Order: sequence, then structure tokens, then C-alpha cells
Amino acid sequence: MTSTDASSGSVGAPTSPLDAPLATVLAPRTATPLAKAFGIRTVGDLLSHYPRRYARRGELTALDRLPLDENVTIVAEVREVRGRSMKNRRGNILEVSISDGAGILTLTFFNQGWREKELRPGVRGVFAGKVTAYRSALQLAHPDYELFDDDSVALSGVNDPDAGKRWSEMPIPIYPATGSLSSWNIAKAIATTLDGLRGVGDAVPAAVREEQGLLAHARALELVHRPQTDSDWRRARDSLRFAEAFVLQAALLQERAIHRASATTARVPRAGGYLERFDGILPFTLTADQEEVGDEIAGDLAATAPMNRLVQGEVGSGKTLVALRAMLAVAESGGQSALLAPTEVLAAQHLRSIARTLGPDLSAELMPTLITGQLSAAERRKALLRAVSGQSRIVVGTHALLGETVSFYDLGLVVIDEQHRFGVDQREALRLKGATPPHVLVLTATPIPRTVAMTVFGDLDVSVIRELPAGRSGIESFVVPLAEKPGWWNRVWTRTAEELALGRQAFVVCPAIDAKQPEEGEDLGGVLDEAEAESKAPLASVTATLESLRSHPDLAGRRIEALHGRMSSDEKDAVMQAFAAGTIDVLVATTVIEVGVDVPNASTMVVLDAERFGVSQLHQLRGRVGRGSVPGLCLLVTNAAEESLGRQRVDAVAATLDGFELAQADLELRREGDVLGGLQSGGRSSLRLLRVAQDGDIIADARRAVQEILDVDPAFADHPDLREAVARRLDESEREYLNKA
Ligand code: ADP
Ligand code: MG
Repeated sequence: MTSTDASSGSVGAPTSPLDAPLATVLAPRTATPLAKAFGIRTVGDLLSHYPRRYARRGELTALDRLPLDENVTIVAEVREVRGRSMKNRRGNILEVSISDGAGILTLTFFNQGWREKELRPGVRGVFAGKVTAYRSALQLAHPDYELFDDDSVALSGVNDPDAGKRWSEMPIPIYPATGSLSSWNIAKAIATTLDGLRGVGDAVPAAVREEQGLLAHARALELVHRPQTDSDWRRARDSLRFAEAFVLQAALLQERAIHRASATTARVPRAGGYLERFDGILPFTLTADQEEVGDEIAGDLAATAPMNRLVQGEVGSGKTLVALRAMLAVAESGGQSALLAPTEVLAAQHLRSIARTLGPDLSAELMPTLITGQLSAAERRKALLRAVSGQSRIVVGTHALLGETVSFYDLGLVVIDEQHRFGVDQREALRLKGATPPHVLVLTATPIPRTVAMTVFGDLDVSVIRELPAGRSGIESFVVPLAEKPGWWNRVWTRTAEELALGRQAFVVCPAIDAKQPEEGEDLGGVLDEAEAESKAPLASVTATLESLRSHPDLAGRRIEALHGRMSSDEKDAVMQAFAAGTIDVLVATTVIEVGVDVPNASTMVVLDAERFGVSQLHQLRGRVGRGSVPGLCLLVTNAAEESLGRQRVDAVAATLDGFELAQADLELRREGDVLGGLQSGGRSSLRLLRVAQDGDIIADARRAVQEILDVDPAFADHPDLREAVARRLDESEREYLNKA
């Protein structure tokens, strides 16, 4: 690394050429469309717009198998060119037949007769555009193209017989493009940028690159965009992939180290204190996993470094109980705990179940209190007072707890239930509410494969509860494929009625509230295949289903009610309580019931339009039944065709109850971006090549290498390029965040 820059130690303005605005190296007419189409603003953004794939001049894309209405790129030869004037309008059409030997395709250009000069028969090139049908023949209207310069090859071939072969084997990068911004316009912009690029630093230190056999960053950027051979771009891609993993782990591990370095109050339970009393009244014994995770947490709490731990465990594995024991350990020293739930319904339910589990004496002493956005002014004042006075040792709420008006006397522990719904920033806001940074415990029922946990929650320690408490009766799952078996629709309700006749209760989950509207806040789009999104069939809705079930002969006399996100908190609460008390038989709901709702008598979960939900959502929904001593039944009703992705998700869920197995299946069925986006990576834009499912080893190697550096150089003081890359990554996540807001 050259060090001509005298100010290399200072953390001043960004010095990397990758941070230069694109407008400083490209003309506005090139830079502006790039910003508009892809949000590309800097040199670094553009150079990390990597090719989607590489075509080859010698590669003949089968023209006889062109997909209609898709954007394609074809390497072919011009066969015939015809110009003619139009019949009904002024102007002329140029029709060009191209062929790759396997098929023939017509290119059409309106009023661009001059192209006849370059599109001569025998000329070869790359053609790109959207395939449309015209009079039952396929065509590309106004395609982009780039013709191969055969003469130059022929000339150089005089002295070098291999030149022609090399040329035909040279990979052509194909970029993600839009209708107005073609792959080669992007390639040209990148070439211009690469030509002027000087002084790109390396986030990955030379020693690590050597050990891993990786290219320097500048070289990797050159070869990923302008490879001479396939092995060029493969090596480049491996190097860039490792660098992504490396910078990500550097950011996560550094954050973890910073948290650990801050001092907080150690919380150690006393003999004969709250925790001991609580364990004494528990009507069951802890599972071995609960014991073990409990010990890990106790160890964390007893230290002056703040705990930052994720507890993973299936729905019903007893995570909340483990968290409650942690809260009691903190309460011994007068410390308070805040429990954050993703919805008001869940917050209210948590409060009730905590009060019930604590029993009357401990409840009176610890005064569990609910703070949500829906309290009346008087209730709210009272609740806030209990929090700020320290009287309430356990405060339960939604993100309303993050509000400025909520203060604590001595906040010692923050428990976040179902963290994937909370952003990193929200976690941070809560952390700032303690006099010293509170310990943080995150609970999630989403089973996360190890590599994803390392990527997404790399700043957390992870505990896993695998074992379910004894006495669970299990769940049977069935797919009801209406596309093939329309008659099964009625059997769903007959089967449900049988369960009700045994004194049990049922959930019916719909993807929408009414005919048009999906449940607010539901990100259904993330899991929809394009084809499905375009399907015109209306979604099963709570309103319509409620009506049809109330008049269904099999369900005559049953009490059927609705629950969805547009009801007020009070209404939702009332319905949930009535369902928990058994005065409602069937609850027709949106996914507001997805997490945490605990009604042991509910045996049946019917999910309508099941293909509309993600794998983990379906798994969570299924976890609502079979929680008590009654066996669960889960019916996944779908109209999706057998081979569709949505149907594969549904089949995968029905095939296993093992959450970890499902998480792996889920990873394989979707794109990485969705995984990371859904789990709040907080920096999705910086992961372009890294694939969480396949690249576990790379992630682990990168993490190890970063840890070694961090051990001796915690501020990356001797690694300015790494420091800068980490800062750039944080900037990006900030930009991403602002874009969403
Ligand atoms: P989770 O939060 O993981 O979904 P909970 O902590 O809410 O699970 O526990 C689910 C149910 O199981 C609760 O009713 C709880 O009281 C009960 N439970 C927890 N631990 C045990 C155990 N070791 N043995 C029996 N029942 C348990
Ligand atoms: Mg729970």
C-alpha cells in the first residue's frame, strides 16, 4: 500500500475514489439514468453493479426457445435485411432477420432506415430486447445491439493464430438492465470509470488475501467487468464475495466489541430472592435446554459487560419463560425490565400471561405494567409513573416504549420478542434508556440457519432451545390443493366441525382483510412470485370468509368472529380474550395472530391461500395449535399450481415440523435478498454477491480473519481501508433506511 497521503491517520473526508460522485467521472446524460434506474450515485455503486451473467461471442443462444414477453440477449448473425414503407401510416419499417443456426427472429425498426448500413447480412453481434409476438411470429422491436468487429480480429489473427479463438471465448458481461438503459450502455459507463480509476484501497489486508488466494480489490473490479477468460471473472467474483463477507463481519464484530467494552450493572440473584421464589412455585420443571440457556443468561447478567444475546426456539419451547426468569434475576437488585412485543395484541397477552405465571404475590410486588399507544390519558399517566418511579419492575409494551415520554428508574434488561420485526435502530433506542446500557435479550421463533445468524445477527451471542416441553401432542399438517381437488373445500369445514364437536377451537387465517386490501403492514410482496402477483384471483379475505362460514351448514350454531389489524386495540383485545376463554369457536383472522398467541384449546389452523405466505410465516401460524394436550391439525389450503414456487413453499411446510429444516428449505426457495431484507440486515445494499445459503464457509473464514485483526487492532487504526469500508457500509445502510422512510 502506498502512503503518499500524509493525513492517512485522520478520519476526515472520504478519500477513496470509490466514494467520488458518479457525476465527477461521467457526463450527466450517462450518470443521471444510472441514478434513476438503480440508485447508483458513486463510483463504488457503479463498480459494484456486477454482471448478472456472462455471455460468449461463440455462444449460440437457442433462438427456437425464446420466451415471450421477456428481455433476452442473443448472440446471432444477420441473415436478411428488408426495408419497406408502411401501409396505413407515413414512414418505413426495417425488418432484419437474425439467426443463430437454431432459429430465426425478426428485428423491426421504425423510421431508422440508416441502420441498413451497419446491419449487413453476415455481420454478427449481440442483440437485446423484449420478445413480442407479431402476426404469430416472434420479434424484437427496436432492440439494442452491438456488432462484433470481425475485421479487427481477422487483422490481429495474421500475427497471432490464437487471437480469433481468444476473441470468440471472451466473456461478455450482461448487466441487470432496464428498457432504457441497456447492458452495453452500462458496460461502456463502467469501462470509462475503470479507465480513470486510481488508488483503490483494499479492505482485506494483503496477508489475508494471500492466505485466501484472493485478488486485490482494483484487480478484482477490473476482471469482474472486463474479463478475458471465464476464470478471470470467477476469481474476481470469489475475491469480491470474500471482501463483502469480510467487511460485513468487521462491522458486526466491531459493534459487538464496542458493546462489550461499555460497562453496565451486573445483576446477580440473591438466595431466597424473587427468582428462587418463582422457581419454587413453577408447576413444572424446566427442560434441559431451558436450564442451559438460563445458565448462559445468568452468566451474562452477572457480568459488567452488557449481555447481547439471541435466544432461538420453536414456538412453545418456553422462551418467554426463560426471559421471565431473567427479568426476575434483574428485579432482585431493584432493576427493571422492558419487554417489547411486535403488536398490541401480543403485548397485552404477554402482560396477562406474565401476571398469571408470577402468581398473585410476586405480581403484587413486581407490578407488571402495560404501556401501549392505546392507553387512555389517565391510564397512561399511571403506567408512566410506575415505570419512572421504579415501582414496576416489569414493563410490557410495543414500540411505544421507545417514545421519549417513557423513562425508567433503573432499566437493567430489555427483552425483545420476535426481533425480526424490530430494526437495529429501535434496539439502539431502547439501549439508550438505561443509566448504564441495559442487558439485551432477543427472542425469536424463526429458526435461523447458522450462517444466516452469523450474517444477520453477527453482533449477538446465540442460544438455542431445541427441545419442546413434554406433554405436547404434536401437529398433523395437510395440503389442500384446490387446483387439483376442488371438492376438498367442503371437507376442510367438515373436518373443522369435527374438531369443534370435540370441544376444541379453530383459527382460519386469510391473507387479506376485505376483497381488495391486504393486511396493513404485511409484506406479502416479498414472497410472491411474479406470476402469482399478477394472477387476477381475489385473495381470501376475512370479511368474505366470515360471512361464508357463518352460513356454512357444517358450522351452524358456532360462534365465529373476526380479528384483524384494522380493528381498534380494545376490539382486538376483547376478541382475543373471548377466544382464550372459549366463548368463540372459530377465529377468522389475518396474520395478526401469527406470533405468540397462546390458546391451548385451539386445535385447528386453517390457512387460506397458503401460497401467499412465506415458509416461516406458515410455520409460525401452525405453531398456534397443538400447544396444549390436544393434538393439532393444520390445513394449508391453496389454489396454486403444483409446480409453482408458492406451492413448493406450502408443500415444504407440510412435509416437516422441524423449524431448522424448514429454514434451510426456505433459503433454497427464495433469493438471498429476501432473507436478509426480511431479517433486517440493516445493510442489504452492501451484499451483492454473498449468498447466505451457499457461502457459509466464506462467512466463517472471513469472521475468523476479522476477529484476529480485531484482537490486536480494535479500532482498525492500522487498517484505514478497512475502517473506510466499514464506514461506507454503515453509510449505505443509512441511505437504505432513509430511502424506506
Ligand atoms: P415460547 O415463548 O417459546 O413460545 P412460552 O414460554 O410462551 O413459549 O411457553 C409456552 C407454554 O409452555 C406456556 O404456557 C408455558 O407456561 C409452558 N411451558 C414453558 N416451559 C415449560 C416446561 N418446562 N414444561 C411445561 N410447560 C412449559
Ligand atoms: Mg413467546
